[in-house]
Amino acid sequence: MSVRLGMWAPVLGALALVLAGCGKQPSELVVYSARNEQLIKPIFDRYTAETGQKIRFVTDDAGPLIERLNAEGANSQADILLTVDAGELWHAAHRGLLAPIQSEVLNANVPESLRDPEGRWYGFSVRARTIVYSTERVKPEELSDYAALADERWKGKLCLRTSKKVYNQSLVAMLIAEHGEARTEEIVRGWVANLATEPFSNDTLLMQAIAAGQCDVGLVNTYYFGRLLRDDPNLPLKLFWADQAGQGVHVNISGAGVTAHAPHAEQAKKFLEWLSQPEAQAFFAGQNLEYPANPSIDPDPVVKAWGDFKRSPMNVAQAGELQAAAVKLMDRAGYR
Ligand code: FE
Repeated sequence: MSVRLGMWAPVLGALALVLAGCGKQPSELVVYSARNEQLIKPIFDRYTAETGQKIRFVTDDAGPLIERLNAEGANSQADILLTVDAGELWHAAHRGLLAPIQSEVLNANVPESLRDPEGRWYGFSVRARTIVYSTERVKPEELSDYAALADERWKGKLCLRTSKKVYNQSLVAMLIAEHGEARTEEIVRGWVANLATEPFSNDTLLMQAIAAGQCDVGLVNTYYFGRLLRDDPNLPLKLFWADQAGQGVHVNISGAGVTAHAPHAEQAKKFLEWLSQPEAQAFFAGQNLEYPANPSIDPDPVVKAWGDFKRSPMNVAQAGELQAAAVKLMDRAGYR
């Protein structure tokens, strides 16, 4: 008996179309990502290898991505928005661009303080913004919290990154949540009065300035410290965990949500659930020397070596709620 494949081709073709129509495996999931390509592509590749699900992504700053989502409205191809700051996710949710997710997996894996109370976004890695100091000119006993960097003893010795960077806007927003506006303004004015030089465009330049002796202390996201340390193990700098007697270290997230008009909302949710599980968590956070959002996972050994610390328990959503107030306050205080 001879079977001629040719005669079955139209049937197989029709069957493939029917299967594709089931929506079980859309041709591709689309992610708008403010996390850079170098950090997210390996994650997407791993997911595709494990599940067969293809992912297409667009990278840009969160601002333009959010505007694009808004302009595209119901016609958007985007299924997921991924950012490197909670404030940005809060804004997207506030503008109705993210849809709430009901997921026991996400609720179990992501601590409450690192996700939207309404389920519209979830943190997948934690970024700690704390004090970095010169081991040549500063003793850790001289350091305590963010507010103490406003003391006169640090006059001409403090380096800061620009207030235009969302990381500092979120930090100041969280200070407002903790201390109120009046006290926070005093703190920020004190920082400005202590600056050794104009604010830097990034955390790495700031640390290089401390290493070079231009200033003694500064505020950075710890993964930038990790990267610099990887390049120069003899770096004369150390991290200090801020505010351990108070609220704890200011933390932010890199996180994501499913878009309001996602063509593949179910598959998008599945991807986020996958991202919250141990193996993906270790990879997602470890690649950039961040802390996993899922508390059951240890950070990378390099990160773990910096020691344990108390994190602020405040919900990171406040970084968004108070961001506009923080920007105005920094402007009033002359922080450029
Ligand atoms: Fe960063």
